[in-house]
Amino acid sequence: MEYNNEYEKDPNYMEEEDEEEEITQEDAWAVISAYFEEKGLVRQQLDSFDEFIQNSMQEIVDESADIEIRPESQHNPGHQSDFTETIYKISFGQIYLSKPMMTESDGETATLFPKAARLRNLTYSAPLYVDVSKRVIKKGHDGEEVTETQDFTKVFIGKVPIMLRSSYCTLFQNSEKDLTELGECPYDQGGYFIINGSEKVLIAQEKMSTNQVYVFKKRQPNKYAYVGEVRSMAENQNRPPSTMFVRMLARANAKGGSSGQYIRCTLPYIKKEIPIIIVFRALGFVADKDILEHICYDFADTQMMELLRPSLEEAFVIQNQLVALDYIGTRGAPPGAPKEKRIKYARDILQKELLPHVGVGEFCETKKAYYFGYIIHRLLLCALGRRPEDDRDHYGNKRLDLAGPLLGGLFRMLFRKLTRDVRSYVQKCVDNGKEVNLQFAIKAKTITSGLKYSLATGNWGQANAAGTRAGVSQVLNRLTYASTLSHLRRLNSPIGREGKLAKPRQLHNSQWVLYDTMSFVLVNFRQLPAGINAIVAISCYSGYNQEDSVIMNQSSIDRGFFRSLFFRSYRDEEKKMGTLVKEHFGRPDRAVTMGMRHGSYEKLDDDGLAPPGTRVSGEDVIIGKTTPISQDEAQGQSSRYSRRDHSISLRHSETGMVDQVLLTTNADGLRFVKVRVRSVRIPQIGDKFSSRHGQKGTVGMTYTQEDMPWTIEGVTPDIIVNPHAIPSRMTIGQLIECIMGKVAAHMGKEGDATPFTDVTVDNISKALHKCGYQMRGFERMYNGHTGRPLTAMIFLGPTYYQRLKHMVDDKIHSRGRGPVQILTRQPAEGRSRDGGLRFGEMERDCMIAHGAANFLKERLFDQSDAYRVHVCESCGLIAIANLKKNSFECRGCKNKTDIVQVHIPYACKLLFQELMSMAIAPRMLTKDLKSAKGRKSGASSLVFS
Ligand SMILES: [Zn+2]
Repeated sequence: MEYNNEYEKDPNYMEEEDEEEEITQEDAWAVISAYFEEKGLVRQQLDSFDEFIQNSMQEIVDESADIEIRPESQHNPGHQSDFTETIYKISFGQIYLSKPMMTESDGETATLFPKAARLRNLTYSAPLYVDVSKRVIKKGHDGEEVTETQDFTKVFIGKVPIMLRSSYCTLFQNSEKDLTELGECPYDQGGYFIINGSEKVLIAQEKMSTNQVYVFKKRQPNKYAYVGEVRSMAENQNRPPSTMFVRMLARANAKGGSSGQYIRCTLPYIKKEIPIIIVFRALGFVADKDILEHICYDFADTQMMELLRPSLEEAFVIQNQLVALDYIGTRGAPPGAPKEKRIKYARDILQKELLPHVGVGEFCETKKAYYFGYIIHRLLLCALGRRPEDDRDHYGNKRLDLAGPLLGGLFRMLFRKLTRDVRSYVQKCVDNGKEVNLQFAIKAKTITSGLKYSLATGNWGQANAAGTRAGVSQVLNRLTYASTLSHLRRLNSPIGREGKLAKPRQLHNSQWVLYDTMSFVLVNFRQLPAGINAIVAISCYSGYNQEDSVIMNQSSIDRGFFRSLFFRSYRDEEKKMGTLVKEHFGRPDRAVTMGMRHGSYEKLDDDGLAPPGTRVSGEDVIIGKTTPISQDEAQGQSSRYSRRDHSISLRHSETGMVDQVLLTTNADGLRFVKVRVRSVRIPQIGDKFSSRHGQKGTVGMTYTQEDMPWTIEGVTPDIIVNPHAIPSRMTIGQLIECIMGKVAAHMGKEGDATPFTDVTVDNISKALHKCGYQMRGFERMYNGHTGRPLTAMIFLGPTYYQRLKHMVDDKIHSRGRGPVQILTRQPAEGRSRDGGLRFGEMERDCMIAHGAANFLKERLFDQSDAYRVHVCESCGLIAIANLKKNSFECRGCKNKTDIVQVHIPYACKLLFQELMSMAIAPRMLTKDLKSAKGRKSGASSLVFS
C-alpha cells in the first residue's frame, strides 16, 4: 500500500509513463555496448574456466570414494597381533589453488607473470593443494574398534595451467597502467593458456545435447518410418553417452496395413531389437493397462491407442516379467548361459546401462518406465503429425564444451589415475609392513604433466590412448588483433570437413547475428588497425593488373606504404648430457671443433650470441654452441677435436637484423637463450593484398608516381585494380565503401556502413556531389606515361586495404642440387629444406605425350636417385661387388664371374630389399630374352620376374 502512495506522490510519475513508450534503436545499442563493455568478447572462455576452478574441481575430488586398504595377508608368524584386522582409509577433502607460481632450480619460489612465462618458455600454472586425512582402523579380538586419524593439510597434488585474465590470473582486474608496467597489452582479453612459453586456445567443441528426446522422420523407402533417440549420460561420469533408439517400422514393411507398424527399441549390449511392450514387462509392468498409462496419457486418445495395438499384439505371448527378462537376456548374454544367468544379465542391463541419466541405483525401474514411455509418446506424436520432427541443426539442440568441461574431463581422468596410484602404493606399504608416507604416495607429476600434455599437443585424453580428440588446443593466432579474437571464439563441429552435407553449414534461424560499426569499437580497430585507407582506382592501365593482379604506386611504397615487420625467434638451451657433460654457449674454435656449419661465425660475440643490431643473412650462425666429445668418440676422427658444433644458424632464405637477445634460465635451471631477428618487409611484385570485400590480388607491377595516372587535382592512386574483378563477384560493398570514403574524407567525418539503415547509394551520391565531385565517384584522369587524358572516366576513392601474409620472399625457391632423403635418396621436399620441385604424375604424363623420353629419364632418374647395383646373371639377385679389389661374388650361386652392372633408381633397390625381407625374391634377368641362347649381351636389357 505504501508503494502506491509513494508513486502517487511523485510528480514525475505520470510523465515518465509517457516517455517509456518506445524503445529506440539507440537504446538497444546502449544496452548491447554496455554488455560488451563489461563482459568483453572472451567472457565465455573466462567464465567457463572460473567455473571449473571454483566448482568442478572440488566436485571431482568429492565424488571420488575413499581409498580403503586391507592388508593382503594377515598371517604373521612369530608375531601375535593384538588386532584381528587393520584397515587404512585415505580420503581427500578441501582443495586449494594458489596464484601462478614458478619454482627456480635452486628451490626459490616466486609469483609468475605471463610475460615471464612467454619469454622463458615456462608454463603459466598454479600449484593445487588438497587436504588429506589418513585413518587407521584397528579391530580388536573383542570386536572393539580403535581409530587413529592423521590429517595432512594442503598436500601438493599438481600444477594447473591458468587461463589468462581469469579470476586466478595475476593480471585479473589490473588497471591499464599496471598491465603496461607488467609488459602486457591492455587490449589483450586473455582467455588462453601459456604452455612452455607458447599461447594455447581451447576450441569450443560442438555436440548434440544429451538427455533429450529427438524424433526424426525417416526418408522413404526405409525399413523404419520414425526414429526416436536419446543420448543418455549420467552427470559427473566419465563415460561415453549410452544411446537408445526407439523405432517404428514403415508401413510398406508391415503385413496387412497399419496394424503391422510395430514399435521396437535397441537396448545397450543387446544385439537384436526388442519390442517395446517386452521392455515394459521386463521392467515390471505386465498388464496392458499399466503399460499404456506410461505411454498414452489420455485413454480417450483413440488415434494414439490404435498405433500401439500392433505392438501389444506382438508381445501377447510374453505375459510375465521373468519370461520378458529371459527374452532380453537370451539376446545379449553369452550363448549357453543358464536361465538364471540370462535373467540376471537382463536385469543388470536394465538397471545399470539403460538410460543411465534417469538412474542406475536399485528401484529405478519405475522412473525408467515413465521415461521410456515418454520417448514412445514423443515418437507417436510425431507419427500422428501433432508435433514436427526435431531439428538437429537447431542451436537449442546443441551444446558447446568450453574450457571448463574440457579441463574437467581431463582432470577427472588424471585425479582417478592419481588415486589409483596412491592405492597401489599404500597397498604395497601395508603388505610389506612399511610405514605409509603420503608425500611419496601422491605423485604430483600425474596431474601436472597430464594437463600440460593435452594443452601442449591438443590431444584430448591420455597419451597414445584410443578415443582422443586431436586439435582441441591450438596455438593462438596473433596475425592481427581481430584474428586473435576470432580464434578465441571459434568452435569446432564434429562433422568431417569433406562431408557433402549442406545443412549443418547453413545459417540456422536460431543463430542471430549482431553486426554494427560497434563491432569496430569492440575489436579496438581504431587502436589496433589491420590495414590502410589507400586511394584505389578501378581501371585498366598498361595491362599489368590482369586476372586479380594490381598495380601499386612505388612512390607510396617508398614513403612507407604497407611496410611491415616480421619477427622470428630462435631458441636454444645448454642441455645436460649425463651428469658431468654439459653443452656450452660460446664461439666455436675451428681448431678443436668438429662438424662446423657452412655459414659465417663472424657475427658471434665471445658469449656465442650475435648481439642486437647485427645484420644477419643466409646461413649466418646466430647462436654458437658446442658439446665436449668423449675421447673414444674422437678416436675415429682426427684427435685434435675435443668439441662438436651444435650452433644454430639463420634460416637460409631469410635476412634481417638481430632485434633482441634474451639470456635466462628455464624451468630445469638450464641456461636458455632466445634470439629475435627482425626483418622489414617492403611491398614488391608478387606480394598479396586485399580489400575487406574479399577482392584479393597480387602486385603485378609497381610504377613511380609520375607514371601513375593523375586527376585534375593531381591525385595519383596507390593501387589500381582491374574492373573485371567487380561484375562477376558482385562486391557492391567495395564501391559503396569507396564513394562513402570519398565523402567522409572531404567532410572530415566517419561513415556508417551498417546494413539495413537509411544509407543508400543515392544519399551518398548526393553528398559526394555537394562536395563538388561527380556524384558516382568517377574522375577525369590523365595518362602518366603520355600526359594525354584517358578516354574513360575512372572510379577513384579511398578504400581500406589489408596486407596478406603471402609474400613472394617467403615463397621464392629454386634448386640445382641439394639435400636428399636418407631412406630413398630422392631430393628432399619443401622450400625450408632446400628441396626439389616436384615432377609429379601429371608432368610425367605430359612428357610421355610429347615423346620426350630422354628428358623424362633425366628428371626421374639421373637427377633424382640414380643408383648402380651388381646383379648375378644366374640367379638375378643383387651380388656383392668390391670395386677396389675388382672382385664380384654371388654367395648363393658361388658365382664370381657372371655378374653384370645395372643402373636402377635407389627407390627400386629399396623396394627389392623390402620385398626380400618379406621372403619374396625379385629377380633381375639381365639377358636379352630373344637372344639369350646365342649371344652374351651383358646388361643389354633388364627384365624383372
Ligand atoms: Zn646368383
